[in-house]
Amino acid sequence: MTEPSAHAALILDFANTLDVEAGTDVITTVDELSAWARDRGLPGEVDETTHVRAISLRAGLRARLLLNNIGVPDTAEAAEAARAIEQAQSVLDTVPLRARLGPEPEPGGPLLGDGLLAAIGVAWALVVAAGEWQRLKQCPDHACEWVFWDGTRSRTRRWCTMSVCGNRAKARAYAARRRRAPD
Ligand SMILES: [Zn+2]
Repeated sequence: MTEPSAHAALILDFANTLDVEAGTDVITTVDELSAWARDRGLPGEVDETTHVRAISLRAGLRARLLLNNIGVPDTAEAAEAARAIEQAQSVLDTVPLRARLGPEPEPGGPLLGDGLLAAIGVAWALVVAAGEWQRLKQCPDHACEWVFWDGTRSRTRRWCTMSVCGNRAKARAYAARRRRAPD
């Protein structure tokens, strides 16, 4: 079993600020997003625009991580996911990256406003560069949608928890077979 890097852990943490099963979202306001960021040592200078963009970025990341798990779903769900990903991409395109590579690496100015989005964008870029992105998946159970790390060698884990979501899916498949079966 592999463990997520700090960058992958940040993506998990950010994606799971929305908890579908519990019906909670810990970044619904500018102040909540700011507190969430500061708690993690990330830039907490957040304004209304950054908040709107962060929500959009999260939706796109979650859509991307669902596709990582189940491939492209058919019909309406696929269109919705594609739209969410496109919007998130346009958010990443606004992110100022102040790091300088060289010849003499030097820090840019202080990261304000979009600093948090830049931090998440950089974490995602590093996760992609390391190939870790394929291990980040969203649970396909619609009552759950938890984002998890697939640490298996084969990267074939589908459910966040086999005992809950995996069994729920099995029970549904069983009930569907029963409904179809003649008495
Ligand atoms: Zn689940």
